[in-house]
Amino acid sequence: MTGNKSVTQQQAVFNQGLISFLQSSPSPAHAAATMAHQLEAAGYQALNEGDEWQLQPGQGYWLTRGDRSLIAFRLGEHAVAESGVRMIGAHTDSPCLKVKPKAELLRHGCLQLGVEVYGGVLLHTWFDRDLSLAGQVHFRDEAGQLKVALLNIETPIAIIPSLAIHLNRDANKNSEVNAQLHLPPILGLKTGDNPTLVLRNLIAGWLRREGHAVKEVVDYDLCFYDTQPPALIGLEQEFISAARLDNLLSCYTGLQAMLAVDTPQPATSLLVCNDHEEVGSASAIGAEGPFLESVLRRLAGEEQKYQRMMARSMLISCDNAHALHPNYADKHDENHGPKLNLGPVIKMNANQRYATSSETSALFISFCEMAKVPYQRFVVRSDMGCGSTIGPIAATKLGVRVVDVGAPQWSMHSIRETAGSKDAWYLGQALQAFISNWDGQI
Ligand code: ZN
Repeated sequence: MTGNKSVTQQQAVFNQGLISFLQSSPSPAHAAATMAHQLEAAGYQALNEGDEWQLQPGQGYWLTRGDRSLIAFRLGEHAVAESGVRMIGAHTDSPCLKVKPKAELLRHGCLQLGVEVYGGVLLHTWFDRDLSLAGQVHFRDEAGQLKVALLNIETPIAIIPSLAIHLNRDANKNSEVNAQLHLPPILGLKTGDNPTLVLRNLIAGWLRREGHAVKEVVDYDLCFYDTQPPALIGLEQEFISAARLDNLLSCYTGLQAMLAVDTPQPATSLLVCNDHEEVGSASAIGAEGPFLESVLRRLAGEEQKYQRMMARSMLISCDNAHALHPNYADKHDENHGPKLNLGPVIKMNANQRYATSSETSALFISFCEMAKVPYQRFVVRSDMGCGSTIGPIAATKLGVRVVDVGAPQWSMHSIRETAGSKDAWYLGQALQAFISNWDGQI
């Protein structure tokens, strides 16, 4: 907890932390590294899945898979079979444009990079933005060793110009975007043969300036991102406007809740942030993979203890929710239109697109009441399809109790999303109550 600062001051500090977290995390690998950095600073110890673990009660630990999915946990004073694990889940990835392996294109004197669409991108929002590149690169050093590094160019190096309205008079009615034809960002003007090494040279130059001895760039996983920094906006700074609020807001909030509860607790708490949620979670490091289950099994030891632990555990799956948009109010059910700054949203779906049950929703409501923060409810319109989260996947794989919640936001999957400036903090307070005050009983 934050001493005797007023709630407004606490929220301001929290939001500045969120803004710098978003700025430092232009890719899932950066998000995992940013979280690891904060965990290390708070005394959490790094674990390697390939080592034998000797864990101490009261101590915090963290580990990653693929450097892009992260689990952090703090062991409680009681055995996990007795007290279960208080789990918070989120995802590190956001929809974006990823660079193809042989990316360079030279078309009509313009140097471009071919891109793949990752996840459900709201494509038209990517036009006319000052874009940069970030992600993981694999390279050989001068001794021939394969190495991995994080790359973030930071300066704007590309743009996807929109087509003038004079050349498409129907643009405001019909703005279909063909992902193959219309999206390759333009990096410059060039003549001559099709260049093949522009990107690898750019990467190698950047790595050398960062002090890496690069012989050859072998491969990369890079995404374009908008260089415009996050901002507090609105007459009274009611809103946070930024890229990747879905779902770095939840990664940050879950992490802050873990770090805020730094006194010894009876029960073990755990944060899992998976990559690949936006593409269905089916991967070695995604929520449908074995990462979380394998860590939980190692915490429990033998099978009997694992099953007892899981019966006493619960996961709060945090992923942003659709806030009611005043210009499109009919897109929400009349009784289930969450508003910005009125607290975290409990998401329910009879068809199990969300894993919330009336039991887990009742528990989450009790955490909000303990924390003295508001909460809201969301059910999709009965005539519309419903999104999903890592919640139902974790529930199906682990058989654990799950509630799906999230901060309300507008413009989900746009290159620039908008959330309320109070909701992440409210959510964080409820998560702290879950970790520190829940006795494990319904
Ligand atoms: Zn999400």
